[in-house]
Amino acid sequence: MLVSEVMLQQTPVRRVLPVYDAWIHRWPDPASLASERPGQAVRMWGRLGYPRRALRLHQAAVVIEQRHDGAVPSELVELRALPGVGEYTAAAVSAFAYHQRAVVLDINVRRVLGRLFAGHQYPPASLIKVERDQARALLPDDPDVSARWSAAVMELGAVICTSSAPHCGRCPVSTQCAWRFAGYPEYDGPPRRGQAYAGTDRQCRGRILSVLRDSDEPVTVAVIEATWADVVQRERALATLLADGLVVRADEGALALP
Ligand code: SF4
Repeated sequence: MLVSEVMLQQTPVRRVLPVYDAWIHRWPDPASLASERPGQAVRMWGRLGYPRRALRLHQAAVVIEQRHDGAVPSELVELRALPGVGEYTAAAVSAFAYHQRAVVLDINVRRVLGRLFAGHQYPPASLIKVERDQARALLPDDPDVSARWSAAVMELGAVICTSSAPHCGRCPVSTQCAWRFAGYPEYDGPPRRGQAYAGTDRQCRGRILSVLRDSDEPVTVAVIEATWADVVQRERALATLLADGLVVRADEGALALP
Protein backbone atom coordinates (compact mmCIF):
# COMPACT_ATOMS: atom_id res chain seq x y z
CA MET A 1 0.00 0.00 0.00
CA LEU A 2 2.78 2.46 0.90
CA VAL A 3 4.65 1.66 -2.32
CA SER A 4 1.57 2.08 -4.52
CA GLU A 5 0.53 5.33 -2.82
CA VAL A 6 3.99 6.84 -3.28
CA MET A 7 4.13 5.74 -6.91
CA LEU A 8 0.66 7.13 -7.59
CA GLN A 9 1.42 10.53 -6.04
CA GLN A 10 2.25 12.15 -9.38
CA THR A 11 1.93 9.35 -11.92
CA PRO A 12 -1.14 7.79 -13.63
CA VAL A 13 -2.20 4.24 -12.73
CA ARG A 14 -1.47 2.79 -16.18
CA ARG A 15 2.18 3.85 -15.95
CA VAL A 16 2.54 2.76 -12.34
CA LEU A 17 1.15 -0.78 -12.70
CA PRO A 18 4.07 -2.52 -14.49
CA VAL A 19 6.68 -0.87 -12.26
CA TYR A 20 4.66 -1.63 -9.13
CA ASP A 21 4.33 -5.31 -10.09
CA ALA A 22 8.07 -5.63 -10.74
CA TRP A 23 8.92 -3.73 -7.54
CA ILE A 24 6.70 -5.89 -5.30
CA HIS A 25 7.94 -9.06 -6.97
CA ARG A 26 11.54 -8.12 -6.25
CA TRP A 27 10.98 -6.50 -2.85
CA PRO A 28 7.90 -8.04 -1.25
CA ASP A 29 8.65 -6.42 2.12
CA PRO A 30 10.59 -3.43 3.52
CA ALA A 31 13.46 -5.66 4.70
CA SER A 32 14.26 -6.88 1.19
CA LEU A 33 14.29 -3.34 -0.18
CA ALA A 34 16.34 -2.01 2.73
CA SER A 35 19.02 -4.64 2.12
CA GLU A 36 19.74 -3.31 -1.39
CA ARG A 37 21.69 -0.25 -2.50
CA PRO A 38 19.49 2.81 -3.03
CA GLY A 39 20.60 2.94 -6.66
CA GLN A 40 18.73 -0.30 -7.29
CA ALA A 41 15.51 1.43 -6.27
CA VAL A 42 16.28 4.32 -8.63
CA ARG A 43 16.99 1.83 -11.42
CA MET A 44 13.74 -0.06 -10.80
CA TRP A 45 11.82 3.24 -10.73
CA GLY A 46 12.49 3.54 -14.45
CA ARG A 47 10.57 6.33 -16.15
CA LEU A 48 7.90 6.98 -13.53
CA GLY A 49 9.21 10.50 -13.01
CA TYR A 50 10.07 12.43 -9.84
CA PRO A 51 12.69 9.77 -8.99
CA ARG A 52 13.43 11.17 -5.56
CA ARG A 53 10.39 9.14 -4.58
CA ALA A 54 12.44 5.97 -5.20
CA LEU A 55 15.17 7.15 -2.87
CA ARG A 56 12.62 8.13 -0.23
CA LEU A 57 10.95 4.72 -0.46
CA HIS A 58 14.31 3.08 0.07
CA GLN A 59 15.01 5.35 3.06
CA ALA A 60 11.55 4.60 4.44
CA ALA A 61 12.22 0.87 4.12
CA VAL A 62 15.42 1.28 6.13
CA VAL A 63 13.59 3.22 8.87
CA ILE A 64 10.76 0.68 8.94
CA GLU A 65 13.29 -2.12 9.29
CA GLN A 66 15.23 -0.35 12.05
CA ARG A 67 12.43 1.21 14.09
CA HIS A 68 9.28 -0.74 13.34
CA ASP A 69 10.50 -4.36 13.16
CA GLY A 70 9.97 -4.42 9.42
CA ALA A 71 6.23 -3.62 9.53
CA VAL A 72 4.77 -0.44 8.01
CA PRO A 73 3.33 1.50 10.98
CA SER A 74 -0.40 2.20 11.13
CA GLU A 75 -0.47 5.42 13.16
CA LEU A 76 -0.50 8.75 11.35
CA VAL A 77 2.30 10.25 13.45
CA GLU A 78 4.63 7.33 12.77
CA LEU A 79 3.75 7.26 9.10
CA ARG A 80 4.39 11.00 8.75
CA ALA A 81 7.83 10.49 10.29
CA LEU A 82 8.86 8.19 7.41
CA PRO A 83 10.95 9.76 4.61
CA GLY A 84 8.81 10.87 1.67
CA VAL A 85 5.48 10.31 3.43
CA GLY A 86 3.30 13.42 3.46
CA GLU A 87 -0.16 14.15 4.80
CA TYR A 88 -2.08 12.46 2.00
CA THR A 89 0.06 9.31 1.81
CA ALA A 90 0.02 8.80 5.58
CA ALA A 91 -3.76 9.16 5.70
CA ALA A 92 -4.28 6.83 2.73
CA VAL A 93 -2.11 4.08 4.23
CA SER A 94 -3.70 4.47 7.66
CA ALA A 95 -7.24 4.41 6.24
CA PHE A 96 -7.00 1.89 3.42
CA ALA A 97 -4.40 -0.54 4.79
CA TYR A 98 -5.30 -0.37 8.49
CA HIS A 99 -8.91 0.92 8.44
CA GLN A 100 -8.16 3.78 10.80
CA ARG A 101 -10.26 6.94 10.75
CA ALA A 102 -8.07 9.36 8.76
CA VAL A 103 -8.90 12.32 6.52
CA VAL A 104 -7.79 11.30 3.02
CA LEU A 105 -7.64 14.35 0.80
CA ASP A 106 -6.30 13.80 -2.68
CA ILE A 107 -7.07 16.08 -5.62
CA ASN A 108 -10.19 14.07 -6.55
CA VAL A 109 -11.69 14.32 -3.06
CA ARG A 110 -10.84 18.02 -2.87
CA ARG A 111 -12.51 18.70 -6.22
CA VAL A 112 -15.70 16.79 -5.28
CA LEU A 113 -16.04 18.44 -1.87
CA GLY A 114 -15.23 21.86 -3.32
CA ARG A 115 -17.96 21.52 -5.95
CA LEU A 116 -20.50 20.02 -3.57
CA PHE A 117 -20.15 22.43 -0.68
CA ALA A 118 -18.22 25.52 -1.78
CA GLY A 119 -19.65 25.70 -5.29
CA HIS A 120 -16.17 26.07 -6.85
CA GLN A 121 -15.10 24.38 -10.07
CA TYR A 122 -11.61 23.68 -8.76
CA PRO A 123 -10.09 23.61 -5.25
CA PRO A 124 -7.29 26.03 -4.23
CA ALA A 125 -3.81 25.28 -5.58
CA SER A 126 -2.68 24.10 -2.14
CA LEU A 127 -4.68 22.37 0.56
CA ILE A 128 -6.12 24.87 3.03
CA LYS A 129 -7.42 24.49 6.58
CA VAL A 130 -11.07 24.97 5.62
CA GLU A 131 -10.89 21.94 3.34
CA ARG A 132 -9.32 19.82 6.07
CA ASP A 133 -11.89 20.90 8.64
CA GLN A 134 -14.78 20.25 6.29
CA ALA A 135 -13.51 16.82 5.28
CA ARG A 136 -12.96 15.89 8.92
CA ALA A 137 -16.49 16.98 9.83
CA LEU A 138 -17.97 14.90 7.02
CA LEU A 139 -15.96 11.75 7.73
CA PRO A 140 -18.07 8.98 9.33
CA ASP A 141 -17.08 8.11 12.92
CA ASP A 142 -16.76 4.37 12.38
CA PRO A 143 -13.21 3.65 11.13
CA ASP A 144 -14.27 0.93 8.66
CA VAL A 145 -17.06 3.07 7.27
CA SER A 146 -14.81 6.13 7.08
CA ALA A 147 -12.24 4.23 4.99
CA ARG A 148 -14.97 3.09 2.60
CA TRP A 149 -16.38 6.62 2.50
CA SER A 150 -12.99 8.05 1.54
CA ALA A 151 -12.50 5.42 -1.17
CA ALA A 152 -16.00 6.15 -2.52
CA VAL A 153 -15.43 9.92 -2.72
CA MET A 154 -12.06 9.38 -4.43
CA GLU A 155 -13.73 7.11 -6.96
CA LEU A 156 -16.55 9.60 -7.50
CA GLY A 157 -13.96 12.25 -8.36
CA ALA A 158 -11.95 9.94 -10.60
CA VAL A 159 -14.88 8.52 -12.57
CA ILE A 160 -17.90 10.85 -12.35
CA CYS A 161 -16.91 14.30 -11.09
CA THR A 162 -13.90 14.55 -13.36
CA SER A 163 -11.84 17.69 -13.73
CA SER A 164 -12.93 18.78 -17.20
CA ALA A 165 -16.18 16.90 -17.94
CA PRO A 166 -18.22 15.90 -14.88
CA HIS A 167 -21.05 13.41 -15.54
CA CYS A 168 -23.66 15.10 -13.38
CA GLY A 169 -26.47 13.00 -14.81
CA ARG A 170 -24.87 9.91 -13.25
CA CYS A 171 -23.80 11.56 -10.01
CA PRO A 172 -25.38 10.13 -6.83
CA VAL A 173 -25.12 13.48 -5.00
CA SER A 174 -26.18 15.80 -7.83
CA THR A 175 -29.19 17.05 -5.85
CA GLN A 176 -26.83 18.41 -3.20
CA CYS A 177 -24.22 20.01 -5.46
CA ALA A 178 -23.65 23.73 -4.84
CA TRP A 179 -21.65 24.19 -8.04
CA ARG A 180 -24.43 22.65 -10.13
CA PHE A 181 -27.11 24.75 -8.40
CA ALA A 182 -25.06 27.88 -9.06
CA GLY A 183 -25.04 27.15 -12.80
CA TYR A 184 -21.43 25.85 -12.98
CA PRO A 185 -19.56 29.18 -12.54
CA GLU A 186 -16.12 29.00 -14.13
CA TYR A 187 -12.95 28.97 -12.06
CA ASP A 188 -11.65 32.52 -11.67
CA GLY A 189 -8.64 31.97 -9.39
CA PRO A 190 -4.92 32.22 -10.20
CA PRO A 191 -3.74 30.40 -13.36
CA ARG A 192 -3.55 26.66 -12.83
CA ARG A 193 -0.11 25.33 -13.61
CA GLY A 194 0.35 22.73 -16.32
CA GLN A 195 2.95 19.99 -16.24
CA ALA A 196 5.37 21.13 -18.96
CA TYR A 197 8.15 18.61 -19.52
CA ALA A 198 9.82 19.02 -22.93
CA GLY A 199 12.93 21.15 -22.70
CA THR A 200 12.82 21.45 -18.90
CA ASP A 201 15.46 20.59 -16.34
CA ARG A 202 13.22 17.66 -15.40
CA GLN A 203 13.60 16.22 -18.88
CA CYS A 204 17.35 16.79 -18.79
CA ARG A 205 17.60 15.05 -15.39
CA GLY A 206 15.56 12.18 -16.82
CA ARG A 207 17.96 11.78 -19.76
CA ILE A 208 20.99 11.64 -17.46
CA LEU A 209 19.34 9.16 -15.11
CA SER A 210 18.24 7.02 -18.03
CA VAL A 211 21.87 6.58 -19.16
CA LEU A 212 22.96 5.67 -15.64
CA ARG A 213 20.07 3.23 -15.16
CA ASP A 214 21.00 1.41 -18.36
CA SER A 215 24.60 0.87 -17.26
CA ASP A 216 25.86 -1.53 -14.62
CA GLU A 217 29.15 0.38 -14.52
CA PRO A 218 29.93 4.04 -13.73
CA VAL A 219 29.47 6.26 -16.78
CA THR A 220 32.11 8.70 -18.02
CA VAL A 221 31.45 12.43 -18.14
CA ALA A 222 31.80 12.30 -21.95
CA VAL A 223 28.80 9.98 -22.18
CA ILE A 224 26.76 12.23 -19.90
CA GLU A 225 27.71 15.25 -22.01
CA ALA A 226 26.18 13.55 -25.06
CA THR A 227 22.78 13.32 -23.39
CA TRP A 228 21.89 17.02 -23.62
CA ALA A 229 23.26 19.77 -25.85
CA ASP A 230 22.66 22.79 -23.62
CA VAL A 231 25.76 22.81 -21.38
CA VAL A 232 24.41 25.21 -18.77
CA GLN A 233 21.16 23.33 -18.37
CA ARG A 234 22.93 19.96 -18.31
CA GLU A 235 25.35 21.09 -15.61
CA ARG A 236 22.50 22.53 -13.59
CA ALA A 237 20.49 19.30 -13.89
CA LEU A 238 23.48 17.18 -12.95
CA ALA A 239 24.22 19.37 -9.94
CA THR A 240 20.68 18.87 -8.63
CA LEU A 241 20.88 15.11 -9.21
CA LEU A 242 24.11 15.02 -7.17
CA ALA A 243 22.59 17.22 -4.48
CA ASP A 244 19.51 14.98 -4.30
CA GLY A 245 21.70 11.88 -3.91
CA LEU A 246 20.24 10.33 -7.05
CA VAL A 247 23.70 10.34 -8.66
CA VAL A 248 27.12 9.92 -7.05
CA ARG A 249 30.68 10.48 -8.21
CA ALA A 250 32.71 7.33 -8.88
CA ASP A 251 36.41 6.93 -9.66
CA GLU A 252 38.04 9.40 -12.04
CA GLY A 253 35.01 11.67 -12.11
CA ALA A 254 32.68 9.07 -13.58
CA LEU A 255 29.05 9.09 -12.47
CA ALA A 256 26.86 6.30 -11.10
CA LEU A 257 23.64 5.55 -9.28
CA PRO A 258 24.07 5.52 -5.48
S1 SF4 B 1 -23.32 17.11 -9.64
FE1 SF4 B 1 -21.68 17.17 -11.13
S2 SF4 B 1 -20.28 18.73 -10.41
FE2 SF4 B 1 -21.62 18.20 -8.69
S3 SF4 B 1 -20.52 16.63 -7.54
FE3 SF4 B 1 -21.85 15.56 -9.00
S4 SF4 B 1 -20.57 15.25 -10.84
FE4 SF4 B 1 -19.57 16.77 -9.56
